[in-house]
Amino acid sequence: MNGHFAIAIDGPSGAGKSTLARRAAAQFGFLYVDTGAIYRTVGLAAHRRGIDCHNEQAVGAILGELDIRMGYNDEGEQRMYLNGEDVSAAIRAPEISICASDVSSLSVVRAFLLEMQRKTARENNVLMDGRDIGTVVLPQAELKIYLTASAEARAERRLKELLAKGVETDFDSVLRDIEYRDYQDTHRDIAPLRQAEDAVLLDTSALDLEQSCQALFDIIRARLPLDGPKA
Ligand code: C5P
Repeated sequence: MNGHFAIAIDGPSGAGKSTLARRAAAQFGFLYVDTGAIYRTVGLAAHRRGIDCHNEQAVGAILGELDIRMGYNDEGEQRMYLNGEDVSAAIRAPEISICASDVSSLSVVRAFLLEMQRKTARENNVLMDGRDIGTVVLPQAELKIYLTASAEARAERRLKELLAKGVETDFDSVLRDIEYRDYQDTHRDIAPLRQAEDAVLLDTSALDLEQSCQALFDIIRARLPLDGPKA
C-alpha cells in the first residue's frame, strides 16, 4: 500500500484490541491508530449537545463544527482532541460507548471519518484497530487480523477495567452493553463488523493478556518483511 505497511485489526468491543494493538505497535514500530476513539469523540460531541445519536440529520448537522484530531503523548499513547480540548478520558464513559456505537451506524458519520483514517495510513506504517478496517477502510492492508473472544470473557475483562478506574458498575450491565454493541455493530447496514475473508482469526477467550500478546506477535512476525516496516 503506497510504500507503507498497514496492519488492520478488527473485532468486537472488549476483545482487548486496544491493549494488544498498542503493545504490538510499540514492539514492531508502527503508529497505533485506535479508530474507536474517533467514533467516541463524535459520540461525545453529540451527547454534549443533547442530540439523539440515532438521528442522522441532527448528527450530520453538527459534523461541520467538529475539529477532531489525534495526537500522541511521550509514551506513544493516542490522545483525542475535540475542538482543541483533550477528551481522551471523557470518551471512555460508559454512556459515551453507547453513543459511539449509535453514531457509528450513521452513514454520514462513517463517510466523514473515512478519509481521516485513510490519510493516516497513507502517511505512516499503521496498526489500525476498529470494526471495518480490513473490510472497508484499508481493504489492501498487508495483514488483517480478526481479534475476538466470547461475550462473557469480554464482559469480565471490561468489568475489571471499569472497576479499577472507579466506575461503579456490575457484570450484568457490562455484559448487556457489550451485547447491545455487538448486535448493533454486526447488524448495521453500513460497514458492519465482520471478519474479512483474508483475515487471520485470533480468539483470546481462553488466553490471558500475555498469551494473547504472544499469539498476536507471532502472527505479525510471520508476515512482516524481514527488515521490518519501511520508514
Ligand atoms: O472500539 P471502541 O469500543 O472504542 O469503539 C466504540 C464504538 O465505535 C464501537 O461500539 C463501534 O460501534 C464503533 N466503531 C466503528 N468502527 C470502527 C471503530 C469503532 O463502528 N472502525
